[in-house]
Amino acid sequence: VIALDEVRQLVCDGLVPLPSMELPVADALGCVAARELIAREPVPGFTNSSMDGFALRSSDTTSGSARLKVIATVLAGDVATTTVGDGQAMRVMTGAPLPDGADCVCMIEETSFETNGGFVVISRSIRSGEFVRHPGDDVAVGQTLISAGEQVTSSMVGVASGQGARSLHVYRRPRVGVLSTGHELVDDGRPLAKGKIRDINRPMLLALLTASGFTPVDLGIVEDDVDVIRTTFEHGIAECDAVVSTGGVSVGDVDFVKTALADLCGPRARSMQVAMRPGKPFTFATTGSPSVPLFGLAGNPVSTLVGFEMFVRPALRRLAGHQNLERPSISMVLDVDLPRSVDGRLHLVHVVARIHEDGRVHVERAMRQGSHLLSALTSANAMVMVPDGDGFKAGQNVQGILLQPDQLATGATE
Ligand code: AMP
Ligand code: MG
Repeated sequence: VIALDEVRQLVCDGLVPLPSMELPVADALGCVAARELIAREPVPGFTNSSMDGFALRSSDTTSGSARLKVIATVLAGDVATTTVGDGQAMRVMTGAPLPDGADCVCMIEETSFETNGGFVVISRSIRSGEFVRHPGDDVAVGQTLISAGEQVTSSMVGVASGQGARSLHVYRRPRVGVLSTGHELVDDGRPLAKGKIRDINRPMLLALLTASGFTPVDLGIVEDDVDVIRTTFEHGIAECDAVVSTGGVSVGDVDFVKTALADLCGPRARSMQVAMRPGKPFTFATTGSPSVPLFGLAGNPVSTLVGFEMFVRPALRRLAGHQNLERPSISMVLDVDLPRSVDGRLHLVHVVARIHEDGRVHVERAMRQGSHLLSALTSANAMVMVPDGDGFKAGQNVQGILLQPDQLATGATE
């Protein structure tokens, strides 16, 4: 039996980021930048108005009021063809280049406009530079907009586009093959024959991969047959950057994933008992150079879910070039008891967590435990670590990870 942390280290240690590539800016969202992006153009590129209003000379307003002749209108995207002189103003829209001669803008809400004669009345003195945006206010030439190793966010897509960038240099998004093993599995939607069950794990893993920003590849359902399992892994290795299977890693008569991976990877395949619950049996193997990781997760759906979270997701994040492989662990206040008994294993318990008025994350409810009880977890939004021992009492703190941070708000039922 091996400690969870040790297994996590063993899994991630031999893995390196996939090759980097150019991706169209919008497609790079969620990928990790492999090169920095340095600004070549200032933003804004020219002096412009930050308000809909009137461009004028501040010197005309020093007395505290002014009546100015409106000589033209400048829309965003246009350029004034004349200069603003003494006693004159130009109507400007937000983003319009500031006309020559003007040094400030009075916003329209602070003016009254006389349509006949085309005069604008300003009733306070306007400072030079008021409501004027200058070149480079947002982005200066030479500024680092995206650093290598950062995950590309929506705002980075914005600043990159603001530079005219068409593509970003990022680590390739891992393509991950998923297979379910088991003689009992069907997925044809017809009434179930006795003894058969519907495949839960493969669709769930494909969804988990998508939710974590990876590209899922469906390798189908496979019988408990060593040769077919091995061939399916081989196919996955040829097509993908990693392969995840479920079932067949325990001590049953037809648990052949262990054997298939040992055949394929020799000493680079390890079947182990992880000191955690659920998800104790786990097979991990690598093949090729750089290593393609192969995961054999336990077949019970909750074990699959937890195994993905603990082993697969961090490993795939390394392939994707991420520096933070694990979700941040935070301290939560228990509003319920979390009893357990000593069994030498770390228990991973799905819970409902909410932010309370004290500003802290509270565990309001623990889900029904059982590696086959998946539906109990659909409303969980966090998972807490309960170390070996007698468990915790309400009022104590527990470490946990957030699986659905959007659902932390009190009363959220999304
Ligand atoms: P195994 O790890 O193959 O011994 O499977 C353990 C338990 O999980 C058994 O009850 C299986 O029927 C069940 N199981 C295995 N694979 C799946 C799957 N893809 N979907 C739902 N249940 C599964
Ligand atoms: Mg099985």
